[in-house]
Amino acid sequence: MNMESKTYNAVKFDEWKTRKKILVILAHPDDPEFFLGGTIAQWTGAGHEVSYLLFTKGERGISEKYQNGEELKLIRVAEQKNAASVLGVTDISYLDFPDGYIEVNLENRRMLVGEIRKRQPDLVVSCDPQTLFHHYYVNHPDHRAVGMLSVDAVFPAAGSPAFFPEQLEEGLRVAAIQELWLSLTVEPNISLDVSPQWDLRIKALKKHVSQIGDPIQFEQKWNERRREAMGSEDGYQEHFRRVILRIP
Ligand SMILES: [Zn+2]
Repeated sequence: MNMESKTYNAVKFDEWKTRKKILVILAHPDDPEFFLGGTIAQWTGAGHEVSYLLFTKGERGISEKYQNGEELKLIRVAEQKNAASVLGVTDISYLDFPDGYIEVNLENRRMLVGEIRKRQPDLVVSCDPQTLFHHYYVNHPDHRAVGMLSVDAVFPAAGSPAFFPEQLEEGLRVAAIQELWLSLTVEPNISLDVSPQWDLRIKALKKHVSQIGDPIQFEQKWNERRREAMGSEDGYQEHFRRVILRIP
């Protein structure tokens, strides 16, 4: 079975009628732009409020030029701020987990449920924990772990008073999340046409200077990928597994 036969049933997204508060929960600086940069730009452009909650500061994203993890953390936080700002996002929080070592366990799920309850998003966006391989790559274990923690935190825990009731005694409210969207999925059920946001996505990605190598080659590579995926250099889509939790 090839990738195309799994994406055939993805439907087009019909924009929401009300303003949404969207929380993007991912592992590393640069994940939001790589996984769904066009979609984030489209959402902020339509007036939705997008914020990022990132588990790590990406200190193991080292390369020949960037060897010191502690220095790299500072660099990557600055790069993430610049990249997010291109897409219209200013609210970025870090949990400062050690890059590469995120575990799926009850303690981390409890913590994430608390973070979601604090923020009260309408939508949570993460990545699909089922994606072990993506194209010719192994999907990073942190991506899978954060995806799984997000799915488990969103349902059934964050919205149920029976889960982690001590957080409610401490003053938090149960969450009322309407939808969960998972990027980096091999089983999408929805596609967004983000062709108009292509340039913004590339501009944002190029702010991650420590991660992209030569910027000209980087842009060429993405133009090739776009041509391969779309058959042209005009269109661009981002695909998701969309889960509806409640109708607002
Ligand atoms: Zn990543």
